[in-house]
Amino acid sequence: MSPIRIAIVGLGKIARDQHLPAIAGNDAFTLAATVSPRGTPLEGVPNFRSLEELLQSDTPVDAVALCTPPQVRYDLAALALSKGVHTFLEKPPGATLAEVAVLSDQADASGASLFASWHSRYAAGVAPAKAWLAGRKIKSAKIIWREDVRVWHPGQDWIWESDGLGVFDPGINALSIATHILPRPFFLKGATLTIPENRQAPIAADLSFTDTNGAPIHMDLDWRQTGPQSWDIIVETDAGALKLAKGGAVLTLPDGSDEVHKDEEYPGLYARFAQLVKDGRSDVDIAPLRLVADAFLRGKREATEAFVE
Ligand code: NAP
Repeated sequence: MSPIRIAIVGLGKIARDQHLPAIAGNDAFTLAATVSPRGTPLEGVPNFRSLEELLQSDTPVDAVALCTPPQVRYDLAALALSKGVHTFLEKPPGATLAEVAVLSDQADASGASLFASWHSRYAAGVAPAKAWLAGRKIKSAKIIWREDVRVWHPGQDWIWESDGLGVFDPGINALSIATHILPRPFFLKGATLTIPENRQAPIAADLSFTDTNGAPIHMDLDWRQTGPQSWDIIVETDAGALKLAKGGAVLTLPDGSDEVHKDEEYPGLYARFAQLVKDGRSDVDIAPLRLVADAFLRGKREATEAFVE
């Protein structure tokens, strides 16, 4: 089978850090083009200033990876799918739940594959954690996602807009893991969103969930953490505590066994996308975005001091 000719749309931080190496490392793909409205193009790869321009050109593409901020994702995906182009969505898959549902229906009707990717689910400790937790009784869980926004999101004004998710931009990664590994569905009971007085999106959030068996799940998100960063999930079970650290890369089981693996997230995502295209299927799981939407629906707002970069 000839490789899937893919274009990267949005040549920003994640495209350069992760998508380019993952595409280069997977024989199922060849990088056919990039779309970057203002960025510096890559040498030797045709670059277009918009997706419309690319799709009207004589550079053929079978697939696109949309690596833009979420606010523009729907228009780009709808355009790609309307041309029968397979579409990989960076997380979060859209700015609203309804637009993602529309895209999912559009993909089904068009026959093109739509992949709503959740990169953290491909972190090395996640699959073994899910397997270990299956069938266990969950007593409680704690999610601690604390990082320094100045280090990880420098100059990203879009992230502070009302639909930029704020601290839920990383927090949704934790929720993508939790919704994948916990054996029962869970839902929001209460939340407090802490919003800088000069911004539209939260810099911190405190959330309480419960699973369908009544097990409490607490989530602590904060973008003001300097020094060591925390991306931990701890699950208390009838067989002891499981800990996933470093965003899912390191799994510690109750017997103390520690597993550290190499970074497998984006190679895993592209292997999955290639399989979906081959099988003519889509994969659109909105569970993490639904929980975030519920936090905005139910959460109390409290103002905090202005955030200046
Ligand atoms: P970023 O550095 O701000 O890059 C976004 C890029 O999108 C920019 O290069 C921008 O191009 C481009 N863009 C904006 N509108 C466009 C349009 N209509 N058509 C084509 N390109 C457009 O953001 P990022 O950190 O890479 O994040 C992008 C997405 O990846 C977000 O949804 C984020 O949650 C997700 N993500 C990020 C990370 C991370 O570590 N940063 C990790 C995992 C996932 P111009 O500059 O040319 O306007």
